[in-house]
Amino acid sequence: MENAKEKPFIWVNKKWCKRCGLCKEFCPREVFTIDKEGYPHPENIDRCVRCGLCVIQCPDYAIVDDEEAKRKVIEEYILDE
Ligand code: SF4
Ligand code: SF4
Repeated sequence: MENAKEKPFIWVNKKWCKRCGLCKEFCPREVFTIDKEGYPHPENIDRCVRCGLCVIQCPDYAIVDDEEAKRKVIEEYILDE
C-alpha cells in the first residue's frame, strides 16, 4: 500500500545549484525540465521512482528528496527559498 512518505519529493536548492544539468541527464524517468534561468525543475515529479540518482550525482549537494531534509538545509544554512 502506498503511504504518504513514499510520495516522490524533489527540491532543487537554487542557492547551491550551478546549473550543470547532470541531474536531468542522469534521471532515468525524465522528471526534470530546465527553467528559463537554466535551473532544473522537477516538472514531472509524478514520474519519479525515487531512485536517488539525481541526489547522488549532484556535485553540489543541491538536490534533496524529502521534505525533512529540505527543512534541515534551510534551517542549518539559513537559506531563503
Ligand atoms: S530520484 Fe530518480 S527518478 Fe526521481 S528525479 Fe531523481 S533521478 Fe529522477
Ligand atoms: S546536478 Fe546539481 S548542480 Fe547540477 S543542475 Fe542538477 S541540481 Fe544543479
